[in-house]
Amino acid sequence: MVATRPRGGTDYPRGWDELLAWFPDDAECLDYLEWLRWPEGFGCPHCGSGGWRTAKGDWSCAGCHRRVTLTSGTIFERTRTPLTTWFAAGWYMTNQKTAGVSAKGLQRVLELGSYQTAWTILHKYRSAMVRPGRDRLTGTVEVDETLVGGAKPGVAGRGALGKTLVAVAVEVHDPRGFGRARLQVIPDASKVTLSGFVTDTIEPGATVRTDGWRSYVGLDALGYIHEPVNVSASGEQAHVSLPGVHRVASLFKRSLLNAYQQYPKLHLQAYCNEWVFRFNRRHSRARGMLFFRLMELAVQAGPLPYSALIRSTRPREISPIPPVGDGRPRRAAVNDQQRPWRHT
Ligand SMILES: [Zn+2]
Repeated sequence: MVATRPRGGTDYPRGWDELLAWFPDDAECLDYLEWLRWPEGFGCPHCGSGGWRTAKGDWSCAGCHRRVTLTSGTIFERTRTPLTTWFAAGWYMTNQKTAGVSAKGLQRVLELGSYQTAWTILHKYRSAMVRPGRDRLTGTVEVDETLVGGAKPGVAGRGALGKTLVAVAVEVHDPRGFGRARLQVIPDASKVTLSGFVTDTIEPGATVRTDGWRSYVGLDALGYIHEPVNVSASGEQAHVSLPGVHRVASLFKRSLLNAYQQYPKLHLQAYCNEWVFRFNRRHSRARGMLFFRLMELAVQAGPLPYSALIRSTRPREISPIPPVGDGRPRRAAVNDQQRPWRHT
């Protein structure tokens, strides 16, 4: 990290004009990326040794003797798109206040020849936007699961068809207000999946608030202070008992509907990352600061070849609610009428 509090005009451009003035060509972009990546000077990504600069501007490692380009091991590795285009795209992405950015929109604004180029840039940035296992949530955190996806018309109880299950976590402040959030596409609501989500996402020692779903039982043994909240059958009361996750889930779903024409199911995790990146920095007044953070993450993230991008994990479809016994829900299942993924 370059500085605890980077400054506009010194560490990041304060506006579009300044961006263009700072980065007129790829050499200036590379210089900036190098400064973000190795603020203390070159360190080999393979062995950590120092090295020396080659005539071509790359680095040669003194330890393992590998040649390291300024972009190798970053999302910019082997790109054929000019870095000036990448920078403009990163600026455009981080300067949208609320909704996400569509590839069509980016292609139009930057006058890119190819839709695929715009799409690839956006997805590579999205892949870098959340660092798994780092910056875990602290304090009091609400956790729940929700279904995301275009509602398909159908009989009651079958609305879950074609939707994807997403785990939600958000820090809640006392007496009101929310901190940072996390969204993770999950295959099911099993104990293994949900406790894995909690340990990946939340620092041990935090207070974790959930409803009474059995998969959350045992979080104490993992080092958390578990507070199961008694959510009754009423949907209204569920909102009151776990207001944070409810708010985050509804904001996320609304932004998906607003931003994208097509339901981005296959790459839902990427959209989760983008939304979380923006939500967690919603109080940041300087939009250039978001550009700075994005670039910082982009040089820390591993490369992501296009072939791997389009192979991203395909989320499982959630089955509709199976009929329960004589047709009347069991007492324990009352609250799960809207939660078909919990019928296992
Ligand atoms: Zn090395």
